[in-house]
Amino acid sequence: MPPQPSIPTTQWAQVCPKVGGPVEYKQIPVPKPDHDEVLVNIKYSGVCHTDLHAMNGDWPLPVKMPLVGGHEGVGTVVARGDLVTHVELGEQVGVKWLNGSCLACDFCEGADESLCEKAILSGYTVDGTFQQYCLGKAAHVTPIPKGVKLDEVAPVLCAGITVYKGLKESRAEPGQVVAIVGAGGGLGSLAQQYAKAMGLQVIAIDGGEEKGELCKRLGAEAYVDFTKTKDLVADVKAHSPDGLGPHAVLLVAAAELPFQQATGYVRSRGTIVAIGLPAHAQLKAPVFDTVVRMITIRGSYVGNRLDGKEAVDFFRRGLINVPIKVVPLSELGNVFNLMKEGKIAGRYVLKMPE
Ligand code: NAD
Ligand code: ZN
Ligand code: ZN
Repeated sequence: MPPQPSIPTTQWAQVCPKVGGPVEYKQIPVPKPDHDEVLVNIKYSGVCHTDLHAMNGDWPLPVKMPLVGGHEGVGTVVARGDLVTHVELGEQVGVKWLNGSCLACDFCEGADESLCEKAILSGYTVDGTFQQYCLGKAAHVTPIPKGVKLDEVAPVLCAGITVYKGLKESRAEPGQVVAIVGAGGGLGSLAQQYAKAMGLQVIAIDGGEEKGELCKRLGAEAYVDFTKTKDLVADVKAHSPDGLGPHAVLLVAAAELPFQQATGYVRSRGTIVAIGLPAHAQLKAPVFDTVVRMITIRGSYVGNRLDGKEAVDFFRRGLINVPIKVVPLSELGNVFNLMKEGKIAGRYVLKMPE
């Protein structure tokens, strides 16, 4: 076996001490892997809006505190537990939201492991990837092929997997039209790319000129600016080629209003996929329209291990152009501030200290 890098006993991390934050950049101990875990020397981690929800305690799901957030991490395996056989030291892997699951319940056996009642979540119920050394259950880390750009692939570990799965759940077929709501954000910008790669036409919905330019650059057929339009429903329908509305809607905004609007413009027999998780939000739809226009509304929650591998493979083949800005780990607090103000076009990625 080649000589292994020595593992320090302390490391830099961003720690959220209590619900509401703010995060503190400080040194903490390096954890040790349990029997079925690997220790990953993280090189880059994306910042997902979920990390902000976690810090703010937005959801009806208890969050660990103090917390090291983060669940879009990529790096190298530097240690492993004695039961781990299929992941080698030195291998490149990604740590995603679903850190581990029981692998024995009906959901796990049916490849719906995100629904496992014993699932543990990176950067939420266990410490995540905003640290130099992060633990992951070996069965759940995603292999990252050699030669891919590690900073760009990081957001695929949550944003990529989630939108790829959401597009599959939408049942939209090549040639059909999908509206992506929140298209200029992290999930949205990747959703546009996966949709194109899957042969779909994209109507992008978001706010502001910077996001509009990004959406055009990513290949959206049309951009609807929710801050400017006088009639969002009419505008979205007008941009579908036959005026009947998009076949599918992917709701990836972290705001409630779009969840009430989508039934207005989705095509009859179309599918609305709820992915964004705005705090305390309700999903409302008129019963009459939902029935007589045969509208399907469904939730979609991350993806399984195979979705993860497939999403990374789309990236490896050069089909996904991830619009990232790379900043040091120490900058997380500023990234959260920009995210709160809705000012992030694409995704911020944190670079770990050397
Ligand atoms: P982000 O902040 O990068 O992007 C959200 C985008 O929504 C922004 O560009 C914002 O301008 C836009 N937006 C706000 N209001 C809008 C409106 N009325 N109409 C259209 N667009 C609007 O966030 P992100 O990291 O992409 O995450 C988005 C949401 O998805 C978060 O709530 C996050 O927690 C959730 N999420 C869910 C899953 C899942 O498995 N279901 C996985 C990851 C993230
Ligand atoms: Zn996420
Ligand atoms: Zn399970």
